[in-house]
Amino acid sequence: MAASAGSFSNLTDEDFILDKRVIGGMQQVSLLIAAELGDDVVLNSPVRTINWEPAGEGHRVTVESERASVNARFVIMAVPPNLYSRVSYNPPLPRRQHQMHQHQSLGLVIKVHAVYSTPFWREDGLSGTGFGADALVQEVYDNTNHGDTRGTLVGFISDEKADAVFELSAGDRKKKVLESIASFLGDKALDAEVYYESDWGSEEWTRGAYAASYDLGGLHRYGKDQHANVGPIFWSSSDLAAEGYQHVDGAVRMGQATAARIVAANSRVAAVPVA
Ligand SMILES: Cc1cc2nc3c(=O)[nH]c(=O)nc-3n(C[C@H](O)[C@H](O)[C@H](O)COP(=O)(O)OP(=O)(O)OC[C@H]3O[C@@H](n4cnc5c(N)ncnc54)[C@H](O)[C@@H]3O)c2cc1C
Repeated sequence: MAASAGSFSNLTDEDFILDKRVIGGMQQVSLLIAAELGDDVVLNSPVRTINWEPAGEGHRVTVESERASVNARFVIMAVPPNLYSRVSYNPPLPRRQHQMHQHQSLGLVIKVHAVYSTPFWREDGLSGTGFGADALVQEVYDNTNHGDTRGTLVGFISDEKADAVFELSAGDRKKKVLESIASFLGDKALDAEVYYESDWGSEEWTRGAYAASYDLGGLHRYGKDQHANVGPIFWSSSDLAAEGYQHVDGAVRMGQATAARIVAANSRVAAVPVA
């Protein structure tokens, strides 16, 4: 992750990747786009099958989801690679994709938010940012909402440490997590008014956090083909990005690059009726 970002400092540099925040949170972006698209947005309807066949110079595609069936000339799979195999492809994907997708998996991170009556750490002259490789909560940040008088900290617990605290009762886990945050910012951190854990590993359509990566040697072995489209199917996830890999920055770059590839491909083929 650090290597693909150019260096670890690019992940913490105030001018790169993590340098901007969205007022109202990232979901604001989806909500505003959905408002523009209106009835074209179909929610709670996972795609189950992608059927495609040659048609003229291009392809004819039918995408089947639980509540909609869509005809198109191209498909963009804008989901993390670990979920590619949740969809059935007709015809089946080629050998290279079958193999490649089995070498990409999601990590495991628990994201915790703790809300306080004030951002007390600022009164102590602290930024709220903390890193501790050996700490239970390995990263802590000031995640206070824009304009909020309360203070919000976000922390992350990863991998085997996440496995271990999931073995605890909810109460014991909360106690240990707040104690770990307090080790960075003092005992006031123990008195959270709101405590919330995001359990990404239990989300069926995500299955982990932060993102998908290759197993050892996987990128070397399969990387050259990870952007290769299969007929009309284009793969576009932040987890396939180079710059911005595993970040929103990479998702935007992949979106722009994939759109450009499809525009170019579309201009090469004769228009095919998709009704
Ligand atoms: C805990 C956590 C913290 C993070 N923090 C940061 C951060 O601080 N800064 C940053 O830049 N990035 C951060 N990221 C990474 C960032 O969220 C991702 O890089 C970005 O969301 C990827 O965008 P995407 O469009 O490629 O895919 P996603 O945002 O993963 O969107 C894929 C969508 O497809 C849906 N889907 C999956 N399968 C199907 C299906 N079969 N049919 C229909 N829909 C389907 C999913 O439900 C999901 O809504 C974080 C990620 C996590 C998990």
